[in-house]
Amino acid sequence: MWTLRALSRVLPGLLPGLLPGLLPSSCALCGQRCPGVVCDGCRADAVRPRTRCRRCANPLAPRDAAAGRDCGACVAAPPAFDATVVAADYQAPFDQLVLQLKFGAGLPLAPWFATLLRDQALRDPATAGALPDVLAPVPLGRRRLAERGFNQALEVARPLSRMLGVALDARLATRVLETAPQSAVAPAARAANVRAAFAITAPVAGLHVGIVDDVMTSARTLDALASALKQAGALRVSNYVVARTPPK
Ligand SMILES: [Zn+2]
Ligand SMILES: [Zn+2]
Repeated sequence: MWTLRALSRVLPGLLPGLLPGLLPSSCALCGQRCPGVVCDGCRADAVRPRTRCRRCANPLAPRDAAAGRDCGACVAAPPAFDATVVAADYQAPFDQLVLQLKFGAGLPLAPWFATLLRDQALRDPATAGALPDVLAPVPLGRRRLAERGFNQALEVARPLSRMLGVALDARLATRVLETAPQSAVAPAARAANVRAAFAITAPVAGLHVGIVDDVMTSARTLDALASALKQAGALRVSNYVVARTPPK
């Protein structure tokens, strides 16, 4: 139990980190007063529209997009998922917002991220006309969930489910292996790190499943999860990812 004295010791240290996210009247990036969590100026700076591959969300030549083509990498080696909706590139200053979400102080940003994802999903007739039957977050391992206290992907999936009118099943997939964070594993070992990491614990046969995550870098985690879903009978898998790391 927290005593008042313990709280008063801890709060002054926490407040500077918590305040930008907690006060709805100040922008989480520049701190200026604004009606939402991010002001219009910072939003325009952080969320730049980009033509992307419908399958993996990497940048795509507009000519290929107009022709409905996937990027060369997806054509050469199609991933197990069918589509990816992304709100923004994982680069400054948007990455700061994602980090605020991940480390807890920015939980009020989760509905804002969900709004961006909803707008992006509804903008493209291909994704707007094919909403999933059910949404599920990329699950955290039990140990990491205990350390962090929340799953940032679930925090975004919850409001997104309400906004899209799509059911949420937070336990549809579980981690059966506690994998090391992908960033801590050498690139060559990353595929092995996530292979067979997931178990599907709900009936998904014939369903279009939407997977929600905060950051997509190599796509290996999402590919592993999508392939587990397809093996369990899912008809289609779409990713809804807050931020995509741009290719080098
Ligand atoms: Zn701002
Ligand atoms: Zn692609």
